[in-house]
Amino acid sequence: MTLQIETIPCLSDNYAYLVHDPVSGETVVVDVPEAAPILDALDSKGWTANQVLLTHHHFDHVEGLPELLKHHAAKVVGATADAHRLPPLDIAVAEGDTVSIGIETGHVIDVSGHTVGHIAFHFPESSVAFTADSLMALGCGRVFEGTMPQMWESLSKLASLPPQTTICSGHEYTQTNARFALTIDPDNPALISRVGAIETARSKGQPTVPSVLSDELATNPFLRAADPAIQAHLNMTGADPADVFAEIRLRKDRF
Ligand code: ZN
Ligand code: FE
Repeated sequence: MTLQIETIPCLSDNYAYLVHDPVSGETVVVDVPEAAPILDALDSKGWTANQVLLTHHHFDHVEGLPELLKHHAAKVVGATADAHRLPPLDIAVAEGDTVSIGIETGHVIDVSGHTVGHIAFHFPESSVAFTADSLMALGCGRVFEGTMPQMWESLSKLASLPPQTTICSGHEYTQTNARFALTIDPDNPALISRVGAIETARSKGQPTVPSVLSDELATNPFLRAADPAIQAHLNMTGADPADVFAEIRLRKDRF
């Protein structure tokens, strides 16, 4: 890990991230829910943002961009597929394209489902991925625009990253996600102990993100649709994991 990551709480429950390369001095902002906390964090670090990576078009991920750009002459990177509804982009990217911070390369992954055109950024050298509203701590984004099979495919791509990958997601929804996860996977000891740690962190006002992919693989019900205990609990033993995922996502929508 050479990149430094700062987690910035924004609005009521959003997160933006600062990614700083101490070698080149470059700083990247991932998503801009609102400008003030990001500007404050940049100021207190003495960093200048030279790039903004946008994950998707929802207002709670882009609203602060114009104000941020008044103070930092950053290049804006976002999905080609969403160029018509994102703020003006300097660089449009799609899956297979790369971005760079100093000498580190980030890979663009299409994680459509929550929106069509949602992208994630994976930096293998520093072992970190910015997933916003696709894979979240103990959860995943609601499927607003894409299809359930598409969201399952997107989550499966993220699940196949190296397990030590740090997952930087877009919201503090973890406590609700934890209560829901226990209804799907009640006997999972790793989940039970993680829920305890989440309750403790939140009672102290601490963020529950970033998380680590290995913990998500062990406890996040949306990644565990192939797990025999979960399938049995849902009366779906032997079902296609994509269908089990869809059932879990529908139950979360009603939770
Ligand atoms: Zn969103
Ligand atoms: Fe969001």
